[in-house]
Amino acid sequence: MHHGEGPTEKCGVVGVALADREAARPLYYSLYALQHRGQDSAGIVTHDGFQQHGHVEMGLVGDAFGPEDLEDLKGSAGIGHVRYPTEGGVNASCAQPFSVSFKSGALGLAHNGNLVNTGELRDELESLGHAFTSDGDTEVIAHDLARNLLDSDLIRAVKRTMGRIHGSYALTVMHDDAVLGVRDPRGNRPLCLGELEDGYVLASESAAIDTLDGELIRDVRPGELVVLESDGSGYDSYRLFEEETSAHCFFEHVYFARPDSVIDDRLVYEARRNLGRALWDESGIDTDVVMPVPDSGRAFASGYADAAGEVDADVEFAEGLMKNRYVGRTFIMPTQDERERAVRLKLNPIRSTVEGRTVTLIDDSIVRGTTSTQLVDLLRDAGAEEVHLRIGAPPIVAPCYMGIDMATREELVAADRSTEEVRAAVGADSLSYLSIDAVADAIGQSRADLCLGCVTGAYPFDVDGEETDREIDRPVTSGGEPADD
Ligand code: AMP
Repeated sequence: MHHGEGPTEKCGVVGVALADREAARPLYYSLYALQHRGQDSAGIVTHDGFQQHGHVEMGLVGDAFGPEDLEDLKGSAGIGHVRYPTEGGVNASCAQPFSVSFKSGALGLAHNGNLVNTGELRDELESLGHAFTSDGDTEVIAHDLARNLLDSDLIRAVKRTMGRIHGSYALTVMHDDAVLGVRDPRGNRPLCLGELEDGYVLASESAAIDTLDGELIRDVRPGELVVLESDGSGYDSYRLFEEETSAHCFFEHVYFARPDSVIDDRLVYEARRNLGRALWDESGIDTDVVMPVPDSGRAFASGYADAAGEVDADVEFAEGLMKNRYVGRTFIMPTQDERERAVRLKLNPIRSTVEGRTVTLIDDSIVRGTTSTQLVDLLRDAGAEEVHLRIGAPPIVAPCYMGIDMATREELVAADRSTEEVRAAVGADSLSYLSIDAVADAIGQSRADLCLGCVTGAYPFDVDGEETDREIDRPVTSGGEPADD
C-alpha cells in the first residue's frame, strides 16, 4: 500500500476526568467547540468504573446526540471525537472513538492525524491473529496497544506502541477509567491540557477548554504522555520520546484551528493578524478597499488593512462578501461542479463596497483555486475595477499526508504552475502569496520545527514516494521517567 493512502483522520479529540460529575455533558460541549475540525461523525466513550459506554454517530455533534444518549453515557471520565469528512464521502466504519474490550481491559481511542506505516503494522498484527473491522489507523493503534498491555504496565505499553507507530497523531485514550493524552514525538497535530474546577481536560484546541470555563495549562509536549487521575484530582506527565526538532503543522495556524485557540503558545488570531501584516510588508499594493474572504481570510485582512492604513489613511476595510452561514465548508462537496456551486451558494457580494473600485481580496490559502476563481469573477460582475489577490500562506504545491484533507497533487492549482500562471488561472489582476520565512516568523517557530510538506513537497515523516526534509530516524527514546511539572 502507498503509505499516504488510506483514510486520513483530520479530526478533533477531547478527554476529561472529573471528580464527581458525569463526563458526558462536558464532552458534548467540547465537541461542539471542536466542530470545525470535523463534521462527518461525532462520538463519545465514557467509563463508570465498572464498564464502558459509547455512542458514535454520523453527522454533526448536534445531530449525533440526543438527551437520552447523553443520559446513557455514564461515568465521570471519557473521551470524544469529531471526524472530518474524507473525499468520496462518508465512511461509517471509521467513525470514532474506536472502542473495544480486550483481555487487557476496555480501550477507547480517538485519533487526530495520519500514520505512515499502518499497512506494515496491520499485516503484522493480522498475522498474530488480530482481526480488523475498519481500514483506519485508529484500530491499528488500539490493537497494538491492547497487545502491549498484556505484558506491560500502561506507561510502558503506550511507549512501546509509540515506538512502533510512525506519522502524526494526537490521541485521547481510555484504558478502563483512565484517560490519557498522547502527542507524537514531533508534535505534528495539536493537543493541549487544561484544568477545570473539578477535574482536567485534554483537547485538540484550547477553545474547547474555554467552553468548559477551564484554564489552559499548556500544550501537551511532543512525545509526551499525560495521564489524568480518574477522580479528577490531578495528572501525571511522562516525556516518552524527545526529538531535536518538532514538525508542527503550520496550516493549523493558517487555516484549520479556531482563531480563539492558543496553539503551541500562540493565539491563532494574533498569528493570523501578523501573517496579514507580513503580507502587506511583502506585497502591499495600492487599493481602495481591503476585503476578506469570510471567514477564513478575516484576521489576515484585518492585519493587512491595519498595516496598509498606516501608510494610506484612505484605505477602507470592508466586508464585501456576505456569507450564508448555513452552508458547510466547500470541501464537503465531492465533485468540482458541486464545489463551484457551493462557493456561489456560500458567498454573495455587496455591490456598493465593490462597484467602480480597486479591491484587494484576502484569503488564507489557495488549494484547488476554486474559491479564488469564483470570487474574482463575482467581484468583477459586481463592478470591481481591479481585483488583487493576497494569500496568507505560501503556494500549496503538494498533498498533506499528515492529517489535513488537502486534495491530490493533480488537483492543486499551484502544483505545476508558477505564481503568474496561477494568477492567470484564477483571473486576478495581481496575486501574491506569503513567503515561508514570513509564516515561520509570524507563528513564532523556526522553520526546522514546522511541517512544511504541503508548501515544499519535502516531509518530516517517511512517506513512500516523497522526499523528506530531514534525517528520518525512528524516534530516540529518552526514558520513561515522569517529567518535572
Ligand atoms: P480552493 O477553493 O480549493 O482553492 O480552497 C481554498 C479555500 O478553501 C480557502 O478559502 C480556504 O480557506 C479553504 N481551505 C483551505 N484548506 C482547506 C481544507 N483542508 N479544507 C477545507 N477548506 C480549506
